Amino acid sequence: MTPPSLNESSSILIVGAGTWGCSTALHLVRRGYKNVTVLDPYPVPSSIAAGNDVNKIMEHKELKGPNTDARSIAFATCTRSALGGWTNDPIFKPYFHGTGLILSVYEAGDVIGARTADDVVHRADHTILAAGAGSDRLLDFKKQLRPTAWTLSHIQMTAEESQLYRNLPVLFNVAKGFFMEPDEDEHHLKICDEHPGYCKFIQDPNNAGEMKSSPFAKEQIPLEAEARAREFLRDTMPHLAERPFVFARICWDADTPDRAFLIDRHPDHPSLIVAVGGSGNGAMQMPTIGGFIVDALEGKLQKELKDVVRWRPELAVNRDWKSTQNRFGDQIN
Ligand SMILES: Cc1cc2nc3c(=O)[nH]c(=O)nc-3n(C[C@H](O)[C@H](O)[C@H](O)COP(=O)(O)OP(=O)(O)OC[C@H]3O[C@@H](n4cnc5c(N)ncnc54)[C@H](O)[C@@H]3O)c2cc1C
Repeated sequence: MTPPSLNESSSILIVGAGTWGCSTALHLVRRGYKNVTVLDPYPVPSSIAAGNDVNKIMEHKELKGPNTDARSIAFATCTRSALGGWTNDPIFKPYFHGTGLILSVYEAGDVIGARTADDVVHRADHTILAAGAGSDRLLDFKKQLRPTAWTLSHIQMTAEESQLYRNLPVLFNVAKGFFMEPDEDEHHLKICDEHPGYCKFIQDPNNAGEMKSSPFAKEQIPLEAEARAREFLRDTMPHLAERPFVFARICWDADTPDRAFLIDRHPDHPSLIVAVGGSGNGAMQMPTIGGFIVDALEGKLQKELKDVVRWRPELAVNRDWKSTQNRFGDQIN
């Protein structure tokens, strides 16, 4: 089957108005597409979106040497482009500032649209699935996605404290998590626990006898995650270590088997583009990832990305669901 033709009047449906879905909508409109619809069960910003957060880390390292692997080249291509967006694009520029990083060293058939819960079918010539960790519920990704949760907790600062810690570099401890300056509006200091992550394993309805991770929303974090966050604060900002959390939640993103993004036309559904697999690095891409997703829709994704971000279920055969995938810890919780 060949994909339907594409022109500025084609109807394009984006499923998921999170980080990547909104970025895709922006880039579609900028390229002149006139019939774009975005669906999400939650008002934007969705309370379950991984990208709905007070702040995120943007990191970019230029690669050195001729023998750099394809995945690193693809990731650097995305982050270089995103950095350009954060520093030049008038929509994103006001929300970016460079603070630096302090790294602690003491520890180591085809798709014709989508049906919504009210039973309305939203038909489209082209559909883009960008529902983050929720995408795996809508399509069989052949084990390429593992919804994984990390924990967020917020401490209330005073306006004076917030001012004092303005421009605080990202403080990152590989075992206990990270935090950065408080957000300007609410004066919340966010602590994100960088443990390997939590999954909720259930029987996989598509594969008898197999399990899969199934995300759920919760504005709470496990006690052990709170203990780790407080330990980190005791090491870094002891005067804040016992202050109550004013907000906490688990936050889901989807890990691919190699933690490279997954942006491709579906092999069996030619009208469907999948744009998923943020793998813990998708928020920093917001200014430009939508441009790459529209490139995939237009069939002109650049070669540095095309092979790395392709539909690749062969990498997920016999996938070890508990693998930390190079994050700290022995196995996923
Ligand atoms: C705690 C935490 C900290 C992180 N820190 C960073 C960081 O510092 N830097 C960084 O670059 N990345 C970070 N990430 C990763 C980053 O947030 C994600 O990779 C990125 O937000 C993924 O974007 P997305 O659009 O795929 O998913 P999301 O932003 O999660 O958006 C998914 C959207 O799909 C919607 N949706 C869900 N189900 C359905 C459905 N059935 N139908 C329609 N819509 C649906 C949701 O409501 C949501 O709006 C972090 C992630 C977490 C969890």
